Amino acid sequence: MAHNETGRDPTPGMRFSPVLMARLEALAAFTEVEGQLTRRYLSPAHVAAVGQVEAWMAEAGMSVHTDPLVSAFGRYEGRTPGAPAIMLGSHIDTIVDAGRYDGNLGVLAAIAVVAELSARGERLEHAIEVAAFGEEEGSRFPAHILTSSALIGAAGPALLDIRDADGITVREALTRAGGNPDAYGDCARRKGEIAAYLELHIEQGPILDTQGLALGAVTAINGSVRTMVSVAGFAGHAGTVPMGQRRDALAAASEMILCVERIGASEAHLVATVGRITALPGAQNVIPGRVAFTIDMRGPSDPVRDHAHAALVTALKEIARRRRVEVTIDAYQRNAATALHPLVIDVVAEAITACGQQPLRLPSGAGHDAGIMAGHCPSGMIFLRCKAGISHNPAESITMEDADLGVRVLLEAARRLDRRLG
Ligand SMILES: [Zn+2]
Repeated sequence: MAHNETGRDPTPGMRFSPVLMARLEALAAFTEVEGQLTRRYLSPAHVAAVGQVEAWMAEAGMSVHTDPLVSAFGRYEGRTPGAPAIMLGSHIDTIVDAGRYDGNLGVLAAIAVVAELSARGERLEHAIEVAAFGEEEGSRFPAHILTSSALIGAAGPALLDIRDADGITVREALTRAGGNPDAYGDCARRKGEIAAYLELHIEQGPILDTQGLALGAVTAINGSVRTMVSVAGFAGHAGTVPMGQRRDALAAASEMILCVERIGASEAHLVATVGRITALPGAQNVIPGRVAFTIDMRGPSDPVRDHAHAALVTALKEIARRRRVEVTIDAYQRNAATALHPLVIDVVAEAITACGQQPLRLPSGAGHDAGIMAGHCPSGMIFLRCKAGISHNPAESITMEDADLGVRVLLEAARRLDRRLG
């Protein structure tokens, strides 16, 4: 590919990225909004993109089908027709005003892997199936990772009644998009049909870029605990109450927030954020009497995260006691971390090494289809460096060299998984 008339490769050493990058560019033109990439689930742009992706799947030698929820699948048979599949994929829906690599990279790189196998006449023991999921982002309907959840049989009829901001239900949107809402149950795959799932995705964070590494083997999808903290002090006149006699809820909350930051930094891969705060009564000349703030704490290990959270609760209560304010701490939502499969993590790390790169093992701070698929079959992810870690932004950027490496590592990992899965 990409040879000129003299037969010389104009991009030496880069077998895959000229076509891959051109296709990522072409796919970015499927948008709801001229001048930016916005391709929400079941929009006309999404449906058209499904058609384009399926055309590329077919060209790469795959048999193609669209499932009832309008996810695209291509299948490249193994040596024995009907064999369990290694599924490679990601999502092609986007956020509003997205970058062009989030999700799309993993789908088009997977097609490049099959195109290479096909061109070489190479069949593996397993089939290779490429998945292009929709509504991973939750940018249209308030239900993210919707289509991969249906694939593992975790979607119920309530999903059809979810409404977008315009009041359109998933059922109505599916009908308009040529899907089949009542057949959503047919999306579910039997256990054993998919032997493993592997997703190449941009990191969406700065760790690889900071360390000067192209690729990483993802170990886990971080879990989270969301907490609401309410602080009750005593409101008073900002001019008359001496400093030593105050019970200032905002000053107490400020010390608590610095404590959140300190404990968030106390463990590798743990992060903690205070993203919202309100202080009442909110007047310039009144000592704040009531403050509420949120804490979002995430990490790849539930025990480590829960231990840190417990330490935080103790520390916040101590601050409240010393400052003579009341504190209420409500951990209202806990999502468990998802460990990815040790075999797949090892295979990804080996494939990165085999392609001449140093593999970094790191968790994912963001959710992904792989986190859902991990409940169904051995699953893993390859992270690819994105410039300065910028993502969910039109400034998302990857290099030709890294894109080429991404396909080579995905291909190498698929071949190794094929042997190791037995
Ligand atoms: Zn994504």
